[in-house]
Amino acid sequence: MVSLTEHAFRPQIEGTLATDAGNFRILIVDDDPSLRRTFPHVLARPGRVFDECGTIGEAIARLEHEHYALILLDYRLPDANGLALLDWLVEHQRDEAVIIISGEDAIDAAIAALRRGADDYVRKPYHVAQLQRAVDGALHKGALEKANKLMSQRLKASERLHRYLVESSPDLIFTLDSAGRFTYVNPRVKALLGYDRSALMRRPFTTLVMPEDLDRIDGLLSQPSSLPGESFSVELRLRRYRGSANADGDCVTVSLTGIPMLTQEDDRRVVGLYGVARDISERKRAEEIISFQAYHDQLTHLPNRVLFKDRLELAIAQAHRRTGALAVMFIDVDRFKLVNDTFGHAEGDVLLRTIAARLSATLRRGDTLARLGGDEFTVLLPDINQPEDAEVIARKVLDALSPPISLSQGQFRATVSIGVALFPRDGSTAEELTRHADVAMYQVKRSGKNAYRFFDPDLNTRHRDRIALENDLRSALARNELELHYQPQVSLAERRIVGLEALLRWQHPVLGQVPPATFVQVAEEVGLIGDISAWVLERACSQVAQWRETGLTPPRVSINLSAHDFHRANIVATITECLARHALDPAQFELEITESIMMNDTAGVASKLQELRAAGISVAIDDFGTGYSALAYLQKFPVSALKIDRSFVRDLEGPMTNPIISAITGIARGFELELVAEGVENEEQARALRALGCEVMQGYLFARPASPADAHRWLIRPESLFETLDAAAAETQTDLSA
Ligand code: C2E
Ligand code: MG
Ligand code: MG
Repeated sequence: MVSLTEHAFRPQIEGTLATDAGNFRILIVDDDPSLRRTFPHVLARPGRVFDECGTIGEAIARLEHEHYALILLDYRLPDANGLALLDWLVEHQRDEAVIIISGEDAIDAAIAALRRGADDYVRKPYHVAQLQRAVDGALHKGALEKANKLMSQRLKASERLHRYLVESSPDLIFTLDSAGRFTYVNPRVKALLGYDRSALMRRPFTTLVMPEDLDRIDGLLSQPSSLPGESFSVELRLRRYRGSANADGDCVTVSLTGIPMLTQEDDRRVVGLYGVARDISERKRAEEIISFQAYHDQLTHLPNRVLFKDRLELAIAQAHRRTGALAVMFIDVDRFKLVNDTFGHAEGDVLLRTIAARLSATLRRGDTLARLGGDEFTVLLPDINQPEDAEVIARKVLDALSPPISLSQGQFRATVSIGVALFPRDGSTAEELTRHADVAMYQVKRSGKNAYRFFDPDLNTRHRDRIALENDLRSALARNELELHYQPQVSLAERRIVGLEALLRWQHPVLGQVPPATFVQVAEEVGLIGDISAWVLERACSQVAQWRETGLTPPRVSINLSAHDFHRANIVATITECLARHALDPAQFELEITESIMMNDTAGVASKLQELRAAGISVAIDDFGTGYSALAYLQKFPVSALKIDRSFVRDLEGPMTNPIISAITGIARGFELELVAEGVENEEQARALRALGCEVMQGYLFARPASPADAHRWLIRPESLFETLDAAAAETQTDLSA
């Protein structure tokens, strides 16, 4: 029943389609068994498979399970005629091709068969070639139909897909004709720009383009025939439909890609344009924010250092050209750190923002106010004719800040220090002008703040020296450049050393010995004093311990503390711990503080001194008499000694002549305080002091501050300290120890 025979003739389409869709099944329906057997031989081709049966009933039974490419159907069959099968096929919407084969010579039968859907009709007796042609034809036609159907199905699916993609695309997709008018636009246009699609048809694309951007696109759209064959990309702003403008503005920035639409015959002739426009507003906004952030200060939204420098450079270039002048102001908020530390950063931020707003309000439109960082602002005044112009603005700035600023903790009166540098007088580059304005500002800070000052070249050298000193001081401790020298305090009555004052020395690698008067204040200002004081304490204690180990009994050693040391909470613990570590008797130890420390008790100085005194440590007021000498604080602060300042000693001319010293000795007696006179240089002073009731002295007359080795020698031979005095006394024939 099934037989496959090679045949030389292979129609192309049948071959390809056969492999495509598997085999061509052919059903032979004939009641003549010998015919049924013959057909497969006659019609054999590669890919053809034959089934056979003898009745309509059997044929239907097969068709119910099997699909055929072709049915060779005998017209007259034992159970019914072929038309019945044709009807069945129609009824079951089958697409098998049918060739009716019949001995009927009536044309009616053929017509009826063809009407009912048969594809061809072969009349018996027929020539084999005739049958073969009919079969080839029917199969070929069937195959074509099938391929066609498949193709159109695929096309439909693909069209559906593309339509879906285009219509639901988040991009604006459109086509234009050769005159640049819309021929298609996807529904996105409504959501993006607010236009109805239909309203745009046949209207020029350029009606959507913002006027400022027209020239970017005009050339590309108006003569599309001159477009190059390649796509183009351009960034444009498209306008929203009137009335649909929203919070995002009246236009949308898009990146438009256009692809020329070419004719099929001639791929150089452009007949229109495919366009895709992508909304890039978000990206644009992000770009703007990023570039804003790169050039502005986040807190105040003012230009930052980078933008300020840029503008200043530009202004300098312009001033150069028109030989004009300009001014740079450096503004630093006074006591800002105090607000930040006391009230917290949030309050500090409020303060900075308020100051920024007030400064802005005093400036003109062309001026640039920038925040360099922290509490530093700069102003560029590009139109200055004379220094007075800048002066007027500086005064305005100071005035603008005079009304108090409300912080959540209360009112704060902000002041600023302003330095001004002028171009071309004070510098020719942005860097130089800013630096010089900074130097001038710094001078204002040093001389009382809340004022302005112009740059003065002399300031500059001093400033540079100071900066260098600061930097060197930072590394002085690490590089072991600090030393302690000692100066004895002697009792004339007892002819012995009652104390040693430790005095700090800095051996600067280039400058040599730098006196403490030069660097202690710097150390205080740059916050290094805490470390330095700790070093002094440690050094002095270990020195005393060392002397003791050699069998000596060193006298009381005093060290000088700075007001800043009392702002540290742990000063008491630091000192007592250090003494304990070196197993020193606290009574052997004295602190020298200045009157200024006691002027206000913000850091709880009184209670700290109380603790130190309770621990057995002596406290002396240094340079007594130069400050406020208020008796009230002597009651409040538990000190143990007063040191008469050198300046009073220097003025001593004869006995009993100095009312201040008399007063001080009186105070010391009244409060039961020890008394030491500083800066005693000659015998006359010593005698006068003695007469005034002060017999403990310190000064060059006995010894200059000297190295620990020298101090060691004094401890062994204290008499040596009195040699000069004794010699002078012998000359004047006075007995000072009497
Ligand atoms: P001071 O505590 O009043 O120290 C006395 C100063 O007078 C010393 O100056 C000393 O050398 C000087 N002097 C002593 N006898 C005479 C004299 O007969 N004639 C003259 N003309 N001067 C005399 P020095 O060592 O330059 O110290 C200056 C100031 O530096 C000190 O004044 C003290 O306030 C401060 N200082 C010194 N060492 C330290 C330290 O370790 N820490 C702190 N915070 N300050 C220190
Ligand atoms: Mg001192
Ligand atoms: Mg002193």
